Amino acid sequence: MNRRIILIMLTMTMAANPFILQAQPSLPGPLSGKVIVLDPGHAVMDDNDRVINPGARARHGAWERDIALAVAEKMTPLLEAQGAKVYRTRTSDNPWRYGPSQPGDNRSRAILANVLHADAYIRLHCDWNRNRHFKGYTIYYFHWGSRGLAEAVDRAFAQAFPTHHDNGLHRRTFVSVTATMPTILVEMGVLTYKPEAKEFGNDTYQQQLAQALSSGVVDYFFKQH
Ligand SMILES: [Zn+2]
Repeated sequence: MNRRIILIMLTMTMAANPFILQAQPSLPGPLSGKVIVLDPGHAVMDDNDRVINPGARARHGAWERDIALAVAEKMTPLLEAQGAKVYRTRTSDNPWRYGPSQPGDNRSRAILANVLHADAYIRLHCDWNRNRHFKGYTIYYFHWGSRGLAEAVDRAFAQAFPTHHDNGLHRRTFVSVTATMPTILVEMGVLTYKPEAKEFGNDTYQQQLAQALSSGVVDYFFKQH
């Protein structure tokens, strides 16, 4: 599917679901005038309301898609309070509905961030691993222009979660080759590691994740001035 068609589809989606793109007017603050797009991963729905990209799940526990959404919803007022305009690719009322192929889907999310002239695009995920001992958070980026944002969020996580393992920064194409703004994909922790899987379902912990992510974003833009 070419870019033009994707763009037309996105425009139609935006018109049909104004709440996906709901953004409050900017307040004065360190993020004043900045547009942030949050992409809580997974839970893509088809036209029959079937989830076609469910994401990972902790054993007997929380789904990655629900954790990512909860953290994005908690981040939104925090970033808005700092003056940012915040858009989310999906909310609890408005699922993301785009194509069955994963590369096409990721591309269309990135094009949405481009169309919105985002200053930062943040993709939220939870990790999964065959090795039950694999733990901690990992920050991915692709374009070199995203490295500063990745570093700032990594620093914020290290400060907020000193007992969690920092798997460091990694450069991977899956973050997005399409997005033109600083873009990161954050694996906030590991669903197959029991202690972290337990924490993920906890509202207070989700709030701490949202706070760490938001303070990383503020730190990144603050240092740009
Ligand atoms: Zn994921």
